[in-house]
Amino acid sequence: MRWKRHKAWTALLMALMVTGASATAAVPAKGDVLLAPERIWTADGDTAHTGWEVLVHDGTIAAVGPAGSIQAPAGAQRIALPGATLTPGLIDLHSHVFLHPYNETLWNDQVLKEPQDYRTLEAAAHARATLLAGFTTLRDLGTEGAGYADVSIKRAIDEGMIPGPRMFVATRAIVATASYGPGPRGFRPDMDLPSGAQEISGVDEAIRATREQAGHGADWIKLYADYRVGTDGSTQPTLSLAEMKAIVDTAHLSGRPVAAHASSDEGVRLAVEAGVDSIEHGYGASEATFRLLKQHGTAYEPTLTAVESTAQYFEHYVPGQSAPTARMKDAERAFRTALKLGVIIGNGSDVGVFTHGDNWREPANMVRDGMTPPQALHAATNVAARILRQQQNFGRIAPGMHADLAAFTGDPSTHIDDLQHPVFVMKDGTVYRTPQSTP
Ligand SMILES: [Zn+2]
Repeated sequence: MRWKRHKAWTALLMALMVTGASATAAVPAKGDVLLAPERIWTADGDTAHTGWEVLVHDGTIAAVGPAGSIQAPAGAQRIALPGATLTPGLIDLHSHVFLHPYNETLWNDQVLKEPQDYRTLEAAAHARATLLAGFTTLRDLGTEGAGYADVSIKRAIDEGMIPGPRMFVATRAIVATASYGPGPRGFRPDMDLPSGAQEISGVDEAIRATREQAGHGADWIKLYADYRVGTDGSTQPTLSLAEMKAIVDTAHLSGRPVAAHASSDEGVRLAVEAGVDSIEHGYGASEATFRLLKQHGTAYEPTLTAVESTAQYFEHYVPGQSAPTARMKDAERAFRTALKLGVIIGNGSDVGVFTHGDNWREPANMVRDGMTPPQALHAATNVAARILRQQQNFGRIAPGMHADLAAFTGDPSTHIDDLQHPVFVMKDGTVYRTPQSTP
């Protein structure tokens, strides 16, 4: 199945070369491109504008507005996208390009049996699938045992060596000693197994790990505020408040934000008190705790699709047919609470748990659980860009922004499921997908 995808990509690459488009992203593409879709959703409001066009100049958006109001320079390439809606390139704030679905290979087996070299090649393929799905930016939250290889993936994409989204990487991530898999949890105590993240105990080690990861190229620092360490396997806090504060202070001094994996109410509360910038999962957080997020301006990535996927793999859940599982109900309750309170919600799916390129499922699940389609689109564009502190660079279709654009058959601002039909992708002005070059 993967081989077919490789062949398809080679065909696309050749098609683009034939039409003269560059496959590199290192420098913004030169020249003028006029995009003429059916309609444009700019992220500045909620409704799409029919009959609008976008002019791209040297990789940057030069103009957007009604057709006829835009003066395209002579020689500009015109790309028509009939029946499609153009949106800002989509953003997923919680990915793992070094993982693939757990029903293909269990997480323990990926971390313990797949060589890092192989996982890095997989990550390159996953990055390509992500970009072609219309997701032009990822915040990748941990390599899960693959060291600092995400820094190399990011570099190869930036240099135009491989196609992929803009990457904000977290490298190894930080966990409390003996609180994360694979070893020692569930294995013989005399086996010395690697951990899926960097283990620390104490404030000194917290500071050291943060500096090490920043020094090796982390854009964000990720910590695990809790994990399944209870005597009954329940999720309990792991890092202490003092350890998390040390991580946050050290990261912030160097200008790096912090993302916290936290599922339990207490874990989320401690992480927010420690000053983290985003909470990942949050399924068990109470209304009082979500009020704390609101107060602190802490962002929240609900990762509804991770829960749905594990329910499919391990609890016989069938989307659209089965009743939601207990964990799915927890996740939905948390999401609805955050939505009601006006917590900043970013699109973060935990893709890698499910297939790369199926990132559209998270916005779709956010609509299933209470958002309107425009709310879900905002969460995956301008709101996500703001969480990344990149709102001046991308996330909207406006003059001066990087030309990161995607188009989908239909209109996702009224039918969110239309996100599963991408027909056009541009990053930094380089075209990676057109209706003619469908991979
Ligand atoms: Zn994750």
